[in-house]
Amino acid sequence: MSPGDAPSAVVDLRSDTVTVATPAMRRAMAEAEVGDDQLGDDPTVRRLEAEVARLLGKERALFFPTGVMANQTALAVHADWASEIVVEADSHLVHWEDSAAAALKGLQLRPVITEDGVLTPEHLDAAVRPDSRYQPRTGLVCLENTHLAHGGRVIPVEAIERLAGAAHERGLPVHLDGARLWHAEAATGLPIRAFAAPVDSVMVALSKGLGAPVGSLLAGRADFIEQAWRIRRRLGGSMRQSGHLAAAGLVALAEQRARLADDHVHARRIAAALDRIDGVQVTPPMTNVLLARCDPSAGLPGSLLAHLQAEGILMLDFGGHQLRAVTHFGVDSAAVDRVIEALDGWRNTARRV
Ligand SMILES: *Cc1c(COP(=O)(O)O)cnc(C)c1O
Repeated sequence: MSPGDAPSAVVDLRSDTVTVATPAMRRAMAEAEVGDDQLGDDPTVRRLEAEVARLLGKERALFFPTGVMANQTALAVHADWASEIVVEADSHLVHWEDSAAAALKGLQLRPVITEDGVLTPEHLDAAVRPDSRYQPRTGLVCLENTHLAHGGRVIPVEAIERLAGAAHERGLPVHLDGARLWHAEAATGLPIRAFAAPVDSVMVALSKGLGAPVGSLLAGRADFIEQAWRIRRRLGGSMRQSGHLAAAGLVALAEQRARLADDHVHARRIAAALDRIDGVQVTPPMTNVLLARCDPSAGLPGSLLAHLQAEGILMLDFGGHQLRAVTHFGVDSAAVDRVIEALDGWRNTARRV
């Protein structure tokens, strides 16, 4: 920004969790009809749970304060104490849930390294243990869609069907971490229930791209959700007049899903500008998560991030010489223009020196 410019708002691309509730969400929260949800008395929570179960094509859904708690509840219900979970190596479950599966249920993760984030039946062949008294017993297979650390990649329905089929043949249940499953829907035009149909349980977040202030849901068969209710209570996640939160979630579902495709367009526009910079190699984004590999010998991504920050634009050092930007409803096309201008400006300066 040059001196004399009107101060403009920060363009925050660190995550799609930085959004604040829209006016419609705030109104709905204030006016929500509520009751004690632990006693089953909150009509707004029940409406949200029924709506998400319907969208996912599952018998029931359960409202949680966070996605981590919903994921860990699914693991605790599906897998026996000290069993092993097959999971793609760069999953949220591996990197960002602070060993919760081990701490809470004595579970061991079996991370499987893949090229593109997609687990296949062949990966399962190699990762599932033989029946042996010396080895862990495999208890569950987990998927993530869209896959955050693989640049918001959409795992295709056919790949989920093949993997779940192979898991079920071995008697293994499948859990889907679908924090951003809404983005798979927006990117492919397929309803989220198509991605959820092959798996036994699925978690979806309201507080990522959909922009609600709080909440995730876990969906599955009625008997699974009955067990999940007990675990949620045990973890301290059973709430009271949580209809105030669920009300924002219902608005998020109604008001935000149709515009997620705009976020994908914005991510692609920013990706194209980043890609023009020497030493930056962008994975073309399929959804709203943009990852770029940076050449550390050129001082990247640090020097670029500092330049952007001085221009009021925030991106994230994702580790491993990667830069991350995530689009969301707080970043409109004018803000994207500003980001592109700042990137082009830096590229031209960098060339001169
Ligand atoms: C954010 C996220 C979670 C956890 O959700 P929280 O609400 O932060 O607990 C789980 N999985 C993925 C892929 C995520 O991006």
